[in-house]
Amino acid sequence: MPHFISSLRIFLTIGYDSLICDEYGMEVSMDTKIAIVTGSSRGLGKSMALHLAQRGVGVIITYYTKQDEAQAVVKEIERLGSKAVALQLDVSDSKSFEDFSQRVQAALQQTWKRDSFDFLVNNAGTGIHAPFAETTEAQFDQMVNIHLKGVFFLTQKLLPIIVDQGRILNLSSGLTRFSLPGYAAYASMKGAVETLTKYLAKELGPRGITVNVVAPGAIETDFGGGLVRDNPQVNSFVASQTTLGRVGLPDDIGGVVASLLSDDNRWVNAQRIEVSGGMFI
Ligand code: NDP
Repeated sequence: MPHFISSLRIFLTIGYDSLICDEYGMEVSMDTKIAIVTGSSRGLGKSMALHLAQRGVGVIITYYTKQDEAQAVVKEIERLGSKAVALQLDVSDSKSFEDFSQRVQAALQQTWKRDSFDFLVNNAGTGIHAPFAETTEAQFDQMVNIHLKGVFFLTQKLLPIIVDQGRILNLSSGLTRFSLPGYAAYASMKGAVETLTKYLAKELGPRGITVNVVAPGAIETDFGGGLVRDNPQVNSFVASQTTLGRVGLPDDIGGVVASLLSDDNRWVNAQRIEVSGGMFI
């Protein structure tokens, strides 16, 4: 780096107390917002992370098994000029949340010189497709642990390091408004998350924290083994039941999430926002 640029950086650092430098001498704005997006190695979470990064938000990516995909998202965010860190997380293992919180705090300090973050997006999750009569207790427990217990206790664990005026966004599904055979256990958990969202909004309001829930329609991702994306019959059925005439894409959701977390939407609270292109209306 030319000497005059580094001198300018040092001048800016001294001249504006909203700027500090990280370990590489790069400027870190104290105004930079930081988001944790769970399950952002691929699918909807990845799109959310990239849309947030385009708006200058720093992102903590989490992955379950696909570390390489998560690192690729980190690189893409860095190319966009923002910062990101990838951490492993199993949302079905609430005993691991204390350790995860410690790793988040270390990453915040190391990368952003912060001890808190601004936005939590509870996105991670998998589905099961099984008729009600054949759903096993093990499948049911898996859905509880991932979609309800995980969201409940991860949010509880991270609460002390979410800033006042921060934001929490939970992910639900169109399947809480309409019903399709095979989703009884999965959709029941999403219904519970919608109720939890209202209770969180009520209790966190005094800290200025808003809590909302985004309910996507069917989107082309790996979810459910990529059924909606890869099965032509399912794909065209969903498109035929959607007023905008096609199946949703990850970027249809990522942009909404980044927008909801922007200051323009600061007065939106305790709401279920369905993003389905008008499915089954
Ligand atoms: P994908 O299958 O494309 O991605 C799932 C993400 O969650 C991955 O990052 C994966 O990590 C992570 N993940 C999976 N299991 C765990 C776990 N036990 N602990 C932590 N992370 C985990 O799914 P989508 O992007 O489609 O779904 C994201 C969210 O959106 C889910 O909550 C889903 O219920 C909801 N949703 C999806 C819809 C759709 O049609 N796609 C519709 C409505 C709601 P890794 O890559 O490491 O495996």
